[in-house]
Amino acid sequence: MRAMNQPTVKTRFAPSPTGLLHLGNVRTALFNALYARHTRGVFLLRIEDTDLERSRGEHILALMEDLHWLGLDWQEGPEADDSHGPYAQSQRGEIYQRYFAELEQHGLAYPCFCSPRELELSRKTQLASGRPPRYAGTCARLNAEERQKRVEKGLQPNLRFRVLDGDVVRFDDLVRGPQAYTTDDIGDFVIRRADGNAAFFFSNAIDDALMEVTHVLRGEDHLTNTPRQILLQQALNLHTPHYGHISMIVGADGAPLSKRTGSRSVRELREAGYLPLAVVNYLARLGHHYENNAYLDLGGLAREFELSKLGRSPARYDPTQLDYYQRQAVQHADADSLWQWMGEAVHALVPAARREEFITTVRGNIVLPKEAVHWACIIFAETLELHGEAEALVTQAGPQFFAAAVAALEAHPVDYAAMVEQLKRASGAKGKGLFKPLRAALTGEVDGPELAPLLALITAEQAKARLARWA
Ligand code: GLU
Repeated sequence: MRAMNQPTVKTRFAPSPTGLLHLGNVRTALFNALYARHTRGVFLLRIEDTDLERSRGEHILALMEDLHWLGLDWQEGPEADDSHGPYAQSQRGEIYQRYFAELEQHGLAYPCFCSPRELELSRKTQLASGRPPRYAGTCARLNAEERQKRVEKGLQPNLRFRVLDGDVVRFDDLVRGPQAYTTDDIGDFVIRRADGNAAFFFSNAIDDALMEVTHVLRGEDHLTNTPRQILLQQALNLHTPHYGHISMIVGADGAPLSKRTGSRSVRELREAGYLPLAVVNYLARLGHHYENNAYLDLGGLAREFELSKLGRSPARYDPTQLDYYQRQAVQHADADSLWQWMGEAVHALVPAARREEFITTVRGNIVLPKEAVHWACIIFAETLELHGEAEALVTQAGPQFFAAAVAALEAHPVDYAAMVEQLKRASGAKGKGLFKPLRAALTGEVDGPELAPLLALITAEQAKARLARWA
């Protein structure tokens, strides 16, 4: 129970809508959503679309749909409580201008006319002399007249935030513990670009403060941005949230997860047939420790979610683990949704009257809908092709075995146990020597669902034909 006067936790997800949501950013959204739910707080969605060239409306719609599909609904943000809106940064320009003006009035920000070439040259010179590159402060020293001259020349300035030397910015990272950065290494940084748009550091920091976000969980690639953002919040007398920087997701090669090492968009996973709770169960364990690998719903995942269980070392992406949770999700899904999930191809193959039976029989053997299609084809197909090991198995068992099998099936068409018993006696085969060739002839596969329900699904006539073929 929360103490009466403790402020509500508010977390947020602040994607830049420049593409589809990938596993990495979905995990960030998930951790924030789980922590909000764990604390009975609020999860907020903000759209960081300041990069007008790369941000797209369709990406905003797609990411909101993906979050809904995963069950990561936000309580504050677009289409929800809008008490701190607007939530798209492209609509917050006026707010940012007020804060730019305030910083300028207090001499805490100044226009910078340096060209990219001049900046690059200065950077190289500093690096060559072994110093960390930071803005050299050229425009910080301009007087009003010098500024005016540059404006008259038509130069469009950036706005830079003035960082005072000799200070240390400290914060206690929710994941990585105490952090300290000396301001001498930071240097004055751009907060408004020449085109008038706010830079990421600025809008992100201002919005977290104005939207009263209390906890920010984000990728560790943002760790070094945090001291700058805290300086901005302090200069404007705004509140600073608690920041926690979560470890990166890496591929099997130890490098940041990329397309090549398996990073996939939520869309791709969804289109392949992954179920939302499979994705969520897997991602929740990528960098967060759970006691065991039990399949949980979002409420269960949130109950056990603790900031202290977030890991500092990189989290390794393992697709076999994703498939493990996908199997769990398939096991836990109700028959109706599983039927929908299996899709049109299965609907066309499986007679309506056999639907329940089909689902029960194959459920344990499918990961994705394509496997349901595979089993529907096997069970209800007119003809069956045998290849490789399956073909070798039936050849090895020989015609006598299959003649006995046909006879056993004729004698016991609906009693699998009795059929097998008779076949055992007649052929002398037992154990694997009996079941493997039987399975191979009936399904063309060497593994799969249990034979008894499979046989019940394949019509007696079909089953007989499949066995007789090898007799
Ligand atoms: N828009 C930023 C990103 O997608 C947000 C970073 C943050 O969470 O603060 O990387």
